[in-house]
Amino acid sequence: MTVSPSPRIAVVGAGMAGLACARALHRRGLGPVVLEKSRGLGGRMATRRTEQGHRFDHGAQFVTAREPRFAAELQALAQAGAARPWAPRLPPGSEAPTHPWWIGTEGMRPLVDPLADSLDVRLQATVTGLSRHDGRWRLALDDGEYVDGFDAVAITAPAPQARILLERAGSALAGALDVVEIAPCWALMLAFDTPWELPFDAGRVEDGGPVAWLARQSSRLGGDDGIDRWVVHASPAWSREYLECVPEAVVQWLLSALAERFGAPPPPPIAAQAHRWRYAMTTRPLGQPFLADPAAGLWAGGDWCLGARVENAFQSGAALAGSIADALGA
Ligand SMILES: Cc1cc2nc3c(=O)[nH]c(=O)nc-3n(C[C@H](O)[C@H](O)[C@H](O)COP(=O)(O)OP(=O)(O)OC[C@H]3O[C@@H](n4cnc5c(N)ncnc54)[C@H](O)[C@@H]3O)c2cc1C
Repeated sequence: MTVSPSPRIAVVGAGMAGLACARALHRRGLGPVVLEKSRGLGGRMATRRTEQGHRFDHGAQFVTAREPRFAAELQALAQAGAARPWAPRLPPGSEAPTHPWWIGTEGMRPLVDPLADSLDVRLQATVTGLSRHDGRWRLALDDGEYVDGFDAVAITAPAPQARILLERAGSALAGALDVVEIAPCWALMLAFDTPWELPFDAGRVEDGGPVAWLARQSSRLGGDDGIDRWVVHASPAWSREYLECVPEAVVQWLLSALAERFGAPPPPPIAAQAHRWRYAMTTRPLGQPFLADPAAGLWAGGDWCLGARVENAFQSGAALAGSIADALGA
């Protein structure tokens, strides 16, 4: 790999993995450019505001720390006022969580926003391909533009999307992603103008049916406007079976499933919307923290390397940065 005096690094994706990687590179004196296809940071750590003004955390529900490094990260976020513990009323008979649940102070986004401080993040920049020009990487964007001159590229998109980019780059790393499996998740967002009287505010449903998780949004996002908002996650099996259905049908089927599960339908919703997470939860991880071809200046990582949780994305991002900085001699 040819390395310039001031190496240029591109990080594809501004979820937890991409931002943890970029921040760690920045701390080592490098100046990565982060390219993110959507309009905001955080990837699957998302808060949705609907057209009617309802807010829902419809992706990741909470984060847990099992390793000291991420626990320290959460403590720092808590001290900065960005993170707080979340201990909602659980369904009767549920076991207490083995690790405390943490959420952002105003939705999940505050957990990632501080990571992007001082970083060069370009939003609405979808990377569609990578090619070599003058010994460095050129990244093509979906608007027909490109950015180039990169000595190193770290791809942190979900595994199937990372695989496509690696293939387009002609990288042998692409094949390694075939072992990874990721389950989809349909998320249902509901708003009621009378409370939905359930004996809990959040919890898993483990009966093998279509519904896997429910969370009352006022238990985490606040709001005293008298509207009761819920996020419902369908199970991986149900989500896979109904993956290609239109959202309007998914709303109706999941409302019926809720009525059946709880013995009575919820109140008539004043707003109901379904969101499909095509790549939600890793069911078979890679088994190592990242993929690397230092000679080619190519790396790939994300939660899918080690597991299905935000902490796994953080671990992968931090490990990616170490490998890239070492390869560049920074
Ligand atoms: C419904 C649901 C519930 C979950 N619940 C939990 C939970 O309770 N606890 C927990 O710990 N985890 C949970 N998770 C998993 C958690 O959200 C992920 O592990 C974590 O957010 C993954 O981070 P990441 O950076 O690896 O990937 P992502 O968050 O997916 O970030 C990847 C980023 O890359 C961008 N991107 C993709 N392709 C391109 C491209 N070509 N060009 C530019 N940008 C691109 C994407 O827009 C995205 O922002 C849940 C996930 C879902 C979907």
